[in-house]
Amino acid sequence: MSQQSYFYQELQEMLQQPGCPICHVGRKVARGQLDALLYDSVTDRDSRDKLTNSLGFCSMHSRDLLTFPGERLGATIIEWALLREAQRRLRASGPAAGASWRQRLLGQPSASSALAADDPCPVCANQAKLEARSLEELLEHLVGDLETPLAAAGGLCWPHLELAMRSASDARVHGVLVSLHDQVWQGLIEQMGEFIRKRDYRYSQETISDQETAAVERAIETLTGAYPRVA
Ligand SMILES: [Zn+2]
Ligand SMILES: [Zn+2]
Repeated sequence: MSQQSYFYQELQEMLQQPGCPICHVGRKVARGQLDALLYDSVTDRDSRDKLTNSLGFCSMHSRDLLTFPGERLGATIIEWALLREAQRRLRASGPAAGASWRQRLLGQPSASSALAADDPCPVCANQAKLEARSLEELLEHLVGDLETPLAAAGGLCWPHLELAMRSASDARVHGVLVSLHDQVWQGLIEQMGEFIRKRDYRYSQETISDQETAAVERAIETLTGAYPRVA
């Protein structure tokens, strides 16, 4: 199976469910990576040591660790090692080299702290890479193919659409991205408009549909992504 067909098949699968397919790909990648790390962490010291450069994961992925049933031991072993590393850095630290809070508040650069993580969250880094690869695949197969299931799923979230627009140099791809999202968003805008209108006492005898009630959630997902993200 070629790399391309793997990403294409993944996208087709993700497009079966509502919400941004690239967010779904990212979520799956992150869950898979965390699951493997939890499994390895119990037995493999090397895999734990690799995490010390980033001092573990970002806030979102650290909390994700605790959502795997039966994996509290693995999560505890990982966080135990990371907090020990933080403690080691704390003990090895010295007084700040001149940078004051005042300088920081004024946005002036200061020397990086010995306590700061050297690397970004490894799950975020891997997730971003694979999301970008999936997005490339989506754009390649958008016109006349994936545009229909993408519209049915509710389109891309704003962060992924913004990323897509930056690389959509083909006028047809750009045109599909604009018209598809314009249409989907117009539907949401109208549903939210109806919800607001019917909450007015003058129209309170009109029934608010489930879709109109749920439109605000879909708008939040559209504007921020299908899952909470850490920038
Ligand atoms: Zn997204
Ligand atoms: Zn992360």
